[in-house]
Amino acid sequence: MINEIEKVLVSEDEIKVAVKNLANQLNIDYAGEKPIVVCILKGSIFFTADLVRELNIPVTIDFMSVSSYGSGTISSGELKVKKDLSFDITGRHVILIEDIIDSGNTLYKLKNLLLERNPASIKIAALLNKPDRRVTPINADYCCFTIPDEFVVGYGLDYDERYRTLKDVCVLSRSVYEK
Ligand code: 5GP
Ligand code: MG
Repeated sequence: MINEIEKVLVSEDEIKVAVKNLANQLNIDYAGEKPIVVCILKGSIFFTADLVRELNIPVTIDFMSVSSYGSGTISSGELKVKKDLSFDITGRHVILIEDIIDSGNTLYKLKNLLLERNPASIKIAALLNKPDRRVTPINADYCCFTIPDEFVVGYGLDYDERYRTLKDVCVLSRSVYEK
């Protein structure tokens, strides 16, 4: 596994600090509220789990699984909902927890879909942001790390379901996906 990883991009310690800082900010911004925290499966599982345990406001946790189909490596086309929310978000404050914003297509479509359900608000919290790859103009309201245009794995992010359980966010060696 070691030589399949090119380098550590964001270490476990850096992630811990950033998650704590994000939680502190959410504790302030949502004081007195009970937001719904939506973990977008599967990449956001560890990020969500670590984040909610640093919150001191009451939250409802829910899960959603979506995919954008299209050609090539850029997600495009229709948004397919593979697993919908369990809760009604009408009138609720929603915080979408995303692992990484790349082209922005998935989140743009997901946010619009959820806005049709008339929530009180929707904000996006992303662990990682790759602004160089943006196709659709959407930005995270909260973002932990801005990273260069590299394919990363770990801390929930996978390549073909592998590497999710790495504790750091790492750059995957090109040899893994170019062979
Ligand atoms: P977007 O619609 O913004 O292009 O796609 C975002 C999704 O693509 C992310 O939720 C993630 O699943 C996947 N993705 C984008 N960049 C990366 C990356 O560097 N590594 C991994 N593992 N997934 C990525
Ligand atoms: Mg994803």
